[in-house]
Formats: sequence, C-alpha cells, structure tokens
Amino acid sequence: MAKKIAIFPGSFDPFTKGHYDLVQRALPLFDEIIIAIGQNTTKQRYFDIEKVTKGINGLFANGENVRVMPYKGLTVKFAKEVGASVILRGLRNAMDFEYEKSIAESNKLLGKIETVFLLTSPEYAAINSTIVREIHKNDGDISTFVPYQL
Ligand code: ADP
Repeated sequence: MAKKIAIFPGSFDPFTKGHYDLVQRALPLFDEIIIAIGQNTTKQRYFDIEKVTKGINGLFANGENVRVMPYKGLTVKFAKEVGASVILRGLRNAMDFEYEKSIAESNKLLGKIETVFLLTSPEYAAINSTIVREIHKNDGDISTFVPYQL
C-alpha cells in the first residue's frame, strides 16, 4: 500500500511548541509528515528559514518520520509533488476555524485534497508566532514558546 503522507504547511516564523505538539500528536496517524515551510515572495520572514529548519530537525532527530522542506507557490501543487494525500492544520479557536474552513474548501476544489484538522492542546493554544516575533524584537525570552535555540 502507498505511504500515507501528510504535509503540515505554514509560515512557521517561528515553529513553536504548539506546532511541535501538533506534529507529535499527528505522527501516529500518518506514515510520514512533511513540515512545509511556505516561502512567500512578498512577505519577508523574521526568523531565518535555515535556523528554523535546523531547529525542527533537531526536535525530530530520533528517527521519527518527519521531514522539513521549504516550498514556494500553491500548497496543493507542492502536496502533489511530494506525494501527500492530506494537508494537516491546527485549530486553536473559532477564528482559526473560519479562516481554515475557506482555505480547506478551496484546496479541495483546486487539488482534490483533504485537510485534516487537529485541535491545539489547551496549554499551547495561546502561542502565536506573531507574538513570539514581537517578544524577540523586544529582547524578551522566547524559550517558553520555542523548543529550540534561535
Ligand atoms: P500560517 O501563516 O499558514 O497560518 P502558521 O505558521 O501561523 O502558518 O501556522 C501553521 C499551522 O499551525 C496552522 O494550521 C495553525 O492553525 C497552526 N498553529 C498555529 N499556532 C499553533 C499552536 N499554538 N498550536 C497548534 N497549532 C498551531
């Protein structure tokens, strides 16, 4: 049988403990998870993509079936290229739900691909990459939110 591959797409600027928790909980559901870091040509990143990739790789260094890949362009196109049949996303609250619903429906129409949602663990639901960037910009300690060195 073909491997069941899921991509977990996002900006991951940075990848947080909330993202990490989500991937760990999704691992038993799939043969492989590809953490797909979207590179938007118009949106400048704050954290270096190489550093974030290295950090994530360090978290999954024990032979888990996780890969990190950068991608550009349409998520559905990237999913096809890597042989993924599922898009994985997290839901923190009702705002996430409304936003994610329209993206998932569009991806279904565009690429005939299903999106699987996991609810964020309550202890991580408040973690938000935008807030982590603000803390870092203001010389705050982000280690409470980010499980590796940046
Ligand atoms: P995007 O810019 O595509 O929203 P993010 O990096 O912010 O990318 O998020 C990627 C995915 O991770 C989204 O599905 C989002 O709902 C989920 N996510 C964001 N923050 C958390 C968190 N604290 N816990 C679990 N999942 C999260």
